[in-house]
Amino acid sequence: MRVLVVEDEPTLARQLQDALGHAGYAVDYAPDGEEAHFLGDTEPYDAVVLDLGLPVLDGVSVLEKWRSEGRDMPVLILTARDTWSDKVAGLDAGADDYLTKPFKMEELLARVRALIRRSSGHASPELTCGPLVLDTKTGRVMNDGEQVRLTAQEYKLLSYLMHHKGEVISRTELTEHIYDQDFDRDSNTIEVFVNRIRKKITVDAIKTVRGMGYRLVEPGQE
Ligand code: CA
Repeated sequence: MRVLVVEDEPTLARQLQDALGHAGYAVDYAPDGEEAHFLGDTEPYDAVVLDLGLPVLDGVSVLEKWRSEGRDMPVLILTARDTWSDKVAGLDAGADDYLTKPFKMEELLARVRALIRRSSGHASPELTCGPLVLDTKTGRVMNDGEQVRLTAQEYKLLSYLMHHKGEVISRTELTEHIYDQDFDRDSNTIEVFVNRIRKKITVDAIKTVRGMGYRLVEPGQE
């Protein structure tokens, strides 16, 4: 899962990137509205954290442009205290949720998790596939009640497949959702990660769809 952080205040921007990175997201960053608009328009984010008070182009305008261009990723806006009119403007511009500064990082992480979950059609924080259970809150993966030890990249990949169970996901799509923009991407490594995950779980859940990519399926289904 890949998240864009848009915040012009350097300390908060760093804290957001660190917290989301530690929580297992690939994180990109934009310090102003223009760069934010460009990234959100060209990269496939699973969620965006968008400050409204931004240099160059304000957050509400960025959001309005994205929505008018058909960009439908979930967006959490950050507003200053006691500015109820900003919240209304942000929500009317297409925001999915908001947080008022200052906020607790735990609350931001919970809201981002919920946005990503709901946008991929999941109400429960636990994603399941047969004996596999991925807890989006703790980042823990269980297989038949035993914890599966995954590397950060393996977790990102499995999490994306679990959020999109049943869908055919190409290597390119996986690459775009598990790496940030600065990473030296190589879609060949996806196959390596998939094979490592397959060895760590007892169920044949990750199917190769020849020439297309991968699909996570419930045991017994094709
Ligand atoms: Ca600001």
